[in-house]
Amino acid sequence: MSFDLAARLAARRAENLYRQRPLLESPQGPQVVVDGQPLLAFCSNDYLGLANHPQVIEAWRAGASRWGVGGGASHLVIGHSSPHHALEEALAEFTGRPRALLFTTGYMANLGAVTALVGQGDTVLEDRLNHASLLDAGLLSGARFNRYLHNDAASLAKRLEKATGNTLVVTDGVFSMDGDIADLPALAREAKAKGAWLMVDDAHGFGPLGANGGGIVEHFGLSREDVPVLVGTLGKAFGTAGAFVAGSEELIESLIQFARPYIYTTSQPPALACATLKSLELLRSEHWRREHLQTLIRQFRHGAEQIGLELMDSFTPIQPIMIGDAGRAVRVSQMLRERGLMVTAIRPPTVPAGSARLRVTLTAAHSEAQVQLLLDGLADCFQQLGPEPSHA
Ligand SMILES: *Cc1c(COP(=O)(O)O)cnc(C)c1O
Repeated sequence: MSFDLAARLAARRAENLYRQRPLLESPQGPQVVVDGQPLLAFCSNDYLGLANHPQVIEAWRAGASRWGVGGGASHLVIGHSSPHHALEEALAEFTGRPRALLFTTGYMANLGAVTALVGQGDTVLEDRLNHASLLDAGLLSGARFNRYLHNDAASLAKRLEKATGNTLVVTDGVFSMDGDIADLPALAREAKAKGAWLMVDDAHGFGPLGANGGGIVEHFGLSREDVPVLVGTLGKAFGTAGAFVAGSEELIESLIQFARPYIYTTSQPPALACATLKSLELLRSEHWRREHLQTLIRQFRHGAEQIGLELMDSFTPIQPIMIGDAGRAVRVSQMLRERGLMVTAIRPPTVPAGSARLRVTLTAAHSEAQVQLLLDGLADCFQQLGPEPSHA
Protein backbone atom coordinates (compact mmCIF):
# COMPACT_ATOMS: atom_id res chain seq x y z
CA MET A 1 0.00 0.00 0.00
CA SER A 2 1.36 3.40 -0.90
CA PHE A 3 0.19 6.92 -1.45
CA ASP A 4 2.78 7.26 -4.24
CA LEU A 5 3.54 10.83 -3.33
CA ALA A 6 6.72 10.72 -5.41
CA ALA A 7 4.69 10.24 -8.60
CA ARG A 8 2.31 13.06 -7.71
CA LEU A 9 5.20 15.40 -7.00
CA ALA A 10 6.97 14.42 -10.23
CA ALA A 11 3.80 15.06 -12.24
CA ARG A 12 3.39 18.47 -10.70
CA ARG A 13 7.00 19.30 -11.52
CA ALA A 14 6.59 18.15 -15.11
CA GLU A 15 3.62 20.50 -15.55
CA ASN A 16 5.62 23.51 -14.34
CA LEU A 17 3.23 23.72 -11.40
CA TYR A 18 5.60 22.79 -8.60
CA ARG A 19 5.43 25.26 -5.72
CA GLN A 20 8.34 26.35 -3.58
CA ARG A 21 8.58 28.73 -0.68
CA PRO A 22 11.03 31.59 -1.08
CA LEU A 23 12.80 32.20 2.23
CA LEU A 24 12.38 35.81 3.37
CA GLU A 25 15.39 36.86 5.43
CA SER A 26 14.40 40.46 6.12
CA PRO A 27 11.28 42.32 7.27
CA GLN A 28 8.53 42.85 4.73
CA GLY A 29 9.08 45.88 2.50
CA PRO A 30 10.12 46.89 -1.03
CA GLN A 31 13.75 45.92 -0.40
CA VAL A 32 14.05 42.41 0.91
CA VAL A 33 16.54 39.59 1.16
CA VAL A 34 15.22 36.32 -0.23
CA ASP A 35 17.23 33.10 -0.29
CA GLY A 36 20.33 35.13 0.43
CA GLN A 37 19.74 37.57 -2.44
CA PRO A 38 18.85 41.26 -2.03
CA LEU A 39 15.77 41.92 -4.19
CA LEU A 40 13.32 44.69 -4.98
CA ALA A 41 9.99 42.98 -4.37
CA PHE A 42 6.61 43.58 -5.99
CA CYS A 43 4.61 40.72 -4.55
CA SER A 44 3.52 41.39 -0.98
CA ASN A 45 -0.01 42.38 0.07
CA ASP A 46 1.34 44.98 2.46
CA TYR A 47 -0.36 47.63 0.31
CA LEU A 48 0.03 50.57 2.67
CA GLY A 49 3.50 49.67 3.93
CA LEU A 50 2.38 49.11 7.53
CA ALA A 51 3.78 45.60 8.18
CA ASN A 52 7.09 47.02 9.41
CA HIS A 53 5.93 50.45 10.56
CA PRO A 54 7.76 51.70 13.70
CA GLN A 55 4.56 52.85 15.43
CA VAL A 56 2.86 49.51 14.79
CA ILE A 57 5.90 47.67 16.12
CA GLU A 58 5.91 49.91 19.19
CA ALA A 59 2.21 49.22 19.81
CA TRP A 60 2.93 45.49 19.57
CA ARG A 61 5.82 45.83 22.06
CA ALA A 62 3.79 47.85 24.52
CA GLY A 63 0.90 45.40 24.11
CA ALA A 64 3.13 42.42 24.86
CA SER A 65 4.54 44.13 27.96
CA ARG A 66 1.08 44.83 29.29
CA TRP A 67 -0.87 41.74 28.13
CA GLY A 68 1.75 39.07 27.60
CA VAL A 69 2.12 37.07 24.44
CA GLY A 70 -0.37 34.22 24.20
CA GLY A 71 -4.16 34.55 24.02
CA GLY A 72 -4.26 31.60 26.40
CA ALA A 73 -7.73 30.24 25.57
CA SER A 74 -10.58 30.55 23.11
CA HIS A 75 -12.75 33.68 23.16
CA LEU A 76 -15.63 31.87 24.83
CA VAL A 77 -13.50 30.51 27.66
CA ILE A 78 -11.08 33.15 28.95
CA GLY A 79 -9.19 34.27 25.84
CA HIS A 80 -11.30 37.32 24.92
CA SER A 81 -9.23 40.15 26.35
CA SER A 82 -9.64 43.93 26.46
CA PRO A 83 -7.45 44.64 23.39
CA HIS A 84 -9.54 42.19 21.30
CA HIS A 85 -12.68 43.89 22.50
CA ALA A 86 -11.36 47.38 21.83
CA LEU A 87 -10.31 46.33 18.32
CA GLU A 88 -13.76 44.90 17.60
CA GLU A 89 -15.35 48.16 18.68
CA ALA A 90 -12.94 50.18 16.54
CA LEU A 91 -13.60 47.95 13.51
CA ALA A 92 -17.37 48.26 13.97
CA GLU A 93 -17.04 52.03 14.04
CA PHE A 94 -14.67 51.98 11.03
CA THR A 95 -17.04 49.89 8.92
CA GLY A 96 -20.18 51.69 10.10
CA ARG A 97 -21.65 48.43 11.36
CA PRO A 98 -23.20 47.81 14.80
CA ARG A 99 -20.71 45.03 15.60
CA ALA A 100 -17.55 43.33 14.42
CA LEU A 101 -16.08 39.98 15.40
CA LEU A 102 -12.38 39.18 15.35
CA PHE A 103 -11.11 35.92 13.81
CA THR A 104 -7.59 34.51 13.83
CA THR A 105 -7.30 34.42 10.02
CA GLY A 106 -9.31 35.39 6.97
CA TYR A 107 -9.57 31.74 6.02
CA MET A 108 -11.27 31.03 9.36
CA ALA A 109 -13.52 34.08 9.13
CA ASN A 110 -14.84 32.89 5.77
CA LEU A 111 -15.30 29.28 6.88
CA GLY A 112 -17.00 30.49 10.04
CA ALA A 113 -19.37 32.99 8.49
CA VAL A 114 -20.57 30.84 5.59
CA THR A 115 -21.00 27.62 7.58
CA ALA A 116 -22.82 29.45 10.39
CA LEU A 117 -25.27 31.07 7.98
CA VAL A 118 -26.18 28.29 5.54
CA GLY A 119 -26.47 24.51 5.68
CA GLN A 120 -28.46 21.68 4.20
CA GLY A 121 -31.55 22.90 2.36
CA ASP A 122 -30.00 26.34 1.78
CA THR A 123 -28.13 27.79 -1.18
CA VAL A 124 -24.76 29.47 -1.53
CA LEU A 125 -23.89 31.25 -4.77
CA GLU A 126 -20.31 32.32 -5.42
CA ASP A 127 -18.32 34.11 -8.07
CA ARG A 128 -16.22 31.57 -9.99
CA LEU A 129 -13.05 33.50 -9.18
CA ASN A 130 -13.66 33.82 -5.45
CA HIS A 131 -10.79 33.20 -3.05
CA ALA A 132 -10.18 29.53 -2.21
CA SER A 133 -11.30 30.06 1.39
CA LEU A 134 -14.75 31.20 0.22
CA LEU A 135 -15.13 28.28 -2.18
CA ASP A 136 -14.02 25.83 0.53
CA ALA A 137 -16.50 27.44 2.94
CA GLY A 138 -19.34 27.00 0.45
CA LEU A 139 -18.52 23.33 -0.05
CA LEU A 140 -18.11 22.68 3.66
CA SER A 141 -21.42 24.33 4.53
CA GLY A 142 -23.47 21.50 3.03
CA ALA A 143 -25.72 24.04 1.30
CA ARG A 144 -26.46 23.76 -2.41
CA PHE A 145 -23.33 25.27 -3.93
CA ASN A 146 -23.24 27.00 -7.27
CA ARG A 147 -20.81 29.31 -9.00
CA TYR A 148 -21.89 32.15 -11.27
CA LEU A 149 -19.85 33.68 -14.10
CA HIS A 150 -17.21 36.09 -12.97
CA ASN A 151 -18.70 39.38 -11.82
CA ASP A 152 -21.84 38.73 -13.87
CA ALA A 153 -25.05 39.90 -12.18
CA ALA A 154 -27.21 38.33 -14.93
CA SER A 155 -25.58 34.95 -14.36
CA LEU A 156 -26.20 35.39 -10.63
CA ALA A 157 -29.84 36.32 -11.26
CA LYS A 158 -30.39 33.08 -13.19
CA ARG A 159 -29.05 31.02 -10.32
CA LEU A 160 -31.05 33.00 -7.78
CA GLU A 161 -34.20 31.93 -9.63
CA LYS A 162 -33.51 28.32 -8.68
CA ALA A 163 -32.24 28.96 -5.16
CA THR A 164 -33.96 27.30 -2.21
CA GLY A 165 -33.82 28.00 1.51
CA ASN A 166 -31.71 30.78 2.97
CA THR A 167 -29.56 32.06 0.16
CA LEU A 168 -26.13 33.59 0.57
CA VAL A 169 -24.39 35.33 -2.33
CA VAL A 170 -20.65 35.49 -1.75
CA THR A 171 -18.03 37.54 -3.56
CA ASP A 172 -14.53 38.91 -3.20
CA GLY A 173 -14.54 42.73 -3.10
CA VAL A 174 -11.27 43.02 -5.02
CA PHE A 175 -10.43 39.80 -6.86
CA SER A 176 -7.11 38.72 -5.47
CA MET A 177 -5.47 37.34 -8.60
CA ASP A 178 -6.99 39.76 -11.14
CA GLY A 179 -7.20 43.06 -9.27
CA ASP A 180 -10.63 43.95 -10.68
CA ILE A 181 -13.45 44.81 -8.30
CA ALA A 182 -16.88 43.25 -7.88
CA ASP A 183 -19.84 45.06 -9.40
CA LEU A 184 -21.36 45.31 -5.94
CA PRO A 185 -24.28 47.64 -6.71
CA ALA A 186 -25.58 45.17 -9.32
CA LEU A 187 -24.92 42.09 -7.19
CA ALA A 188 -26.59 43.72 -4.18
CA ARG A 189 -29.62 44.63 -6.29
CA GLU A 190 -30.06 41.05 -7.51
CA ALA A 191 -29.56 39.59 -4.05
CA LYS A 192 -32.05 42.00 -2.44
CA ALA A 193 -34.66 41.38 -5.11
CA LYS A 194 -34.65 37.70 -4.14
CA GLY A 195 -34.33 38.17 -0.39
CA ALA A 196 -30.80 36.73 -0.45
CA TRP A 197 -27.94 38.04 1.67
CA LEU A 198 -24.76 39.39 0.14
CA MET A 199 -21.44 38.56 1.82
CA VAL A 200 -18.37 40.48 0.65
CA ASP A 201 -14.81 39.47 1.47
CA ASP A 202 -12.87 42.69 1.01
CA ALA A 203 -9.44 41.38 1.99
CA HIS A 204 -7.72 43.51 -0.67
CA GLY A 205 -10.04 46.52 -0.62
CA PHE A 206 -9.73 47.69 2.98
CA GLY A 207 -6.92 50.21 3.04
CA PRO A 208 -6.35 51.03 -0.64
CA LEU A 209 -10.01 51.62 -1.61
CA GLY A 210 -12.49 54.21 -0.35
CA ALA A 211 -11.81 57.79 0.74
CA ASN A 212 -10.92 56.61 4.26
CA GLY A 213 -9.68 53.15 3.42
CA GLY A 214 -13.13 51.66 4.04
CA GLY A 215 -12.78 49.43 1.01
CA ILE A 216 -15.19 48.58 -1.77
CA VAL A 217 -18.29 49.29 0.32
CA GLU A 218 -17.09 52.83 0.96
CA HIS A 219 -15.99 53.12 -2.69
CA PHE A 220 -19.55 52.42 -3.87
CA GLY A 221 -21.29 54.07 -0.91
CA LEU A 222 -23.27 50.92 -0.10
CA SER A 223 -25.37 50.47 3.01
CA ARG A 224 -25.53 47.73 5.63
CA GLU A 225 -28.72 46.50 3.98
CA ASP A 226 -26.87 46.13 0.67
CA VAL A 227 -24.03 44.15 2.26
CA PRO A 228 -25.24 42.47 5.45
CA VAL A 229 -22.05 40.40 5.88
CA LEU A 230 -18.76 42.24 5.46
CA VAL A 231 -15.42 40.48 5.89
CA GLY A 232 -12.02 42.13 6.12
CA THR A 233 -8.61 40.62 6.71
CA LEU A 234 -5.83 42.21 8.73
CA GLY A 235 -2.83 40.54 7.10
CA LYS A 236 -2.91 42.69 3.98
CA ALA A 237 -3.16 46.48 4.07
CA PHE A 238 -3.44 46.49 7.87
CA GLY A 239 0.02 44.90 7.92
CA THR A 240 -0.71 42.64 10.92
CA ALA A 241 -2.73 39.39 11.05
CA GLY A 242 -6.26 38.16 11.68
CA ALA A 243 -9.62 39.06 10.20
CA PHE A 244 -13.06 40.34 11.09
CA VAL A 245 -16.69 39.98 10.15
CA ALA A 246 -18.82 43.12 10.52
CA GLY A 247 -22.60 43.30 10.56
CA SER A 248 -25.69 43.46 12.67
CA GLU A 249 -25.97 42.63 16.36
CA GLU A 250 -27.85 39.45 15.45
CA LEU A 251 -25.29 38.39 12.88
CA ILE A 252 -22.39 38.71 15.29
CA GLU A 253 -24.23 36.99 18.14
CA SER A 254 -25.08 34.14 15.74
CA LEU A 255 -21.44 33.76 14.75
CA ILE A 256 -20.43 33.62 18.42
CA GLN A 257 -22.96 30.81 18.90
CA PHE A 258 -22.54 28.84 15.67
CA ALA A 259 -19.27 29.63 13.85
CA ARG A 260 -17.08 26.65 14.69
CA PRO A 261 -13.83 28.20 13.39
CA TYR A 262 -14.52 31.05 15.83
CA ILE A 263 -15.44 28.91 18.79
CA TYR A 264 -12.88 26.12 18.67
CA THR A 265 -9.66 28.05 18.38
CA THR A 266 -7.37 30.08 20.60
CA SER A 267 -7.77 33.83 20.40
CA GLN A 268 -5.03 35.74 18.62
CA PRO A 269 -2.31 37.24 20.84
CA PRO A 270 -3.76 40.35 22.53
CA ALA A 271 -0.61 42.28 21.59
CA LEU A 272 -1.50 41.68 17.96
CA ALA A 273 -4.81 43.44 18.53
CA CYS A 274 -2.85 46.35 20.06
CA ALA A 275 -0.73 46.52 16.90
CA THR A 276 -3.79 46.39 14.66
CA LEU A 277 -5.46 49.21 16.61
CA LYS A 278 -2.45 51.36 15.72
CA SER A 279 -2.38 50.26 12.08
CA LEU A 280 -6.11 50.97 11.78
CA GLU A 281 -5.44 54.50 12.99
CA LEU A 282 -2.67 54.96 10.39
CA LEU A 283 -4.73 53.33 7.65
CA ARG A 284 -7.60 55.77 8.23
CA SER A 285 -5.68 58.97 8.80
CA GLU A 286 -2.64 58.82 6.50
CA HIS A 287 -4.33 59.58 3.21
CA TRP A 288 -0.98 60.14 1.54
CA ARG A 289 -0.49 56.37 1.48
CA ARG A 290 -3.56 55.85 -0.71
CA GLU A 291 -2.69 58.85 -2.87
CA HIS A 292 0.91 57.78 -3.42
CA LEU A 293 -0.29 54.27 -4.26
CA GLN A 294 -2.63 55.66 -6.93
CA THR A 295 0.28 57.63 -8.42
CA LEU A 296 2.35 54.45 -8.62
CA ILE A 297 -0.53 52.47 -10.14
CA ARG A 298 -0.96 55.08 -12.88
CA GLN A 299 2.79 55.16 -13.49
CA PHE A 300 2.99 51.37 -13.73
CA ARG A 301 0.01 51.01 -16.07
CA HIS A 302 1.22 53.75 -18.36
CA GLY A 303 4.74 52.30 -18.49
CA ALA A 304 3.55 48.71 -18.97
CA GLU A 305 1.26 49.73 -21.83
CA GLN A 306 4.18 51.42 -23.56
CA ILE A 307 6.14 48.17 -23.34
CA GLY A 308 3.14 46.38 -24.83
CA LEU A 309 2.34 44.19 -21.83
CA GLU A 310 -1.12 42.71 -21.38
CA LEU A 311 -2.55 44.19 -18.18
CA MET A 312 -5.87 43.41 -16.56
CA ASP A 313 -8.81 45.69 -15.88
CA SER A 314 -7.60 46.94 -12.50
CA PHE A 315 -7.15 50.24 -10.71
CA THR A 316 -6.15 48.50 -7.48
CA PRO A 317 -2.60 47.74 -6.23
CA ILE A 318 -2.95 44.27 -7.81
CA GLN A 319 -1.64 44.70 -11.37
CA PRO A 320 -1.18 41.28 -12.97
CA ILE A 321 0.60 40.86 -16.29
CA MET A 322 -1.16 38.13 -18.26
CA ILE A 323 1.23 35.53 -19.70
CA GLY A 324 -0.90 32.43 -20.38
CA ASP A 325 1.55 29.55 -20.36
CA ALA A 326 2.73 28.49 -16.89
CA GLY A 327 6.26 27.66 -18.04
CA ARG A 328 6.66 31.04 -19.68
CA ALA A 329 5.37 32.82 -16.57
CA VAL A 330 7.92 31.00 -14.42
CA ARG A 331 10.66 31.82 -16.95
CA VAL A 332 9.90 35.57 -16.87
CA SER A 333 9.75 35.50 -13.08
CA GLN A 334 13.21 33.86 -13.02
CA MET A 335 14.62 36.37 -15.50
CA LEU A 336 13.35 39.24 -13.37
CA ARG A 337 14.95 37.67 -10.33
CA GLU A 338 18.30 37.53 -12.11
CA ARG A 339 17.88 41.29 -12.50
CA GLY A 340 17.21 41.77 -8.79
CA LEU A 341 13.41 42.00 -9.09
CA MET A 342 10.93 39.73 -7.39
CA VAL A 343 7.51 39.21 -8.97
CA THR A 344 5.61 35.97 -8.38
CA ALA A 345 4.33 33.80 -11.19
CA ILE A 346 0.78 32.69 -10.38
CA ARG A 347 -0.19 29.42 -11.99
CA PRO A 348 -3.09 26.97 -12.00
CA PRO A 349 -4.82 25.80 -9.90
CA THR A 350 -4.71 29.21 -8.21
CA VAL A 351 -5.88 30.71 -11.55
CA PRO A 352 -7.72 28.99 -14.43
CA ALA A 353 -5.67 26.83 -16.82
CA GLY A 354 -3.95 28.85 -19.55
CA SER A 355 -4.05 32.10 -17.57
CA ALA A 356 -0.74 32.03 -15.72
CA ARG A 357 0.39 35.52 -14.90
CA LEU A 358 2.90 37.66 -13.09
CA ARG A 359 1.14 39.11 -10.10
CA VAL A 360 2.65 42.54 -9.63
CA THR A 361 1.56 44.29 -6.46
CA LEU A 362 2.42 47.85 -5.59
CA THR A 363 2.59 49.35 -2.11
CA ALA A 364 2.73 52.82 -0.63
CA ALA A 365 6.26 51.99 0.53
CA HIS A 366 7.51 51.80 -3.08
CA SER A 367 9.00 54.87 -4.74
CA GLU A 368 8.45 56.05 -8.30
CA ALA A 369 12.12 55.26 -8.98
CA GLN A 370 11.54 51.66 -7.86
CA VAL A 371 8.51 51.29 -10.11
CA GLN A 372 10.67 52.58 -12.98
CA LEU A 373 13.26 49.89 -12.17
CA LEU A 374 10.51 47.28 -12.46
CA LEU A 375 9.36 48.68 -15.80
CA ASP A 376 12.93 48.71 -17.13
CA GLY A 377 13.45 45.12 -15.97
CA LEU A 378 10.19 43.99 -17.60
CA ALA A 379 11.05 45.69 -20.90
CA ASP A 380 14.44 44.01 -20.87
CA CYS A 381 13.06 40.53 -20.09
CA PHE A 382 10.30 40.60 -22.66
CA GLN A 383 12.67 41.87 -25.31
CA GLN A 384 15.10 39.07 -24.60
CA LEU A 385 12.35 36.46 -24.46
CA GLY A 386 10.99 37.39 -27.88
CA PRO A 387 7.38 37.17 -29.02
CA GLU A 388 5.07 34.71 -27.38
CA PRO A 389 4.73 31.40 -29.24
CA SER A 390 1.32 31.72 -30.92
CA HIS A 391 -1.26 29.44 -29.40
CA ALA A 392 -4.27 28.08 -31.20
C1 LIG B 1 -5.77 36.50 1.84
C2 LIG B 1 -7.20 36.30 1.64
C3 LIG B 1 -7.95 35.59 2.57
C4 LIG B 1 -7.32 34.85 3.71
O1 LIG B 1 -6.95 35.72 4.71
P1 LIG B 1 -5.84 35.25 5.76
O2 LIG B 1 -6.00 36.17 6.89
O3 LIG B 1 -4.54 35.38 5.05
O4 LIG B 1 -6.15 33.83 6.10
C5 LIG B 1 -9.31 35.52 2.40
N1 LIG B 1 -9.90 36.10 1.36
C6 LIG B 1 -9.21 36.76 0.41
C7 LIG B 1 -9.93 37.37 -0.74
C8 LIG B 1 -7.84 36.88 0.53
O5 LIG B 1 -7.14 37.50 -0.40
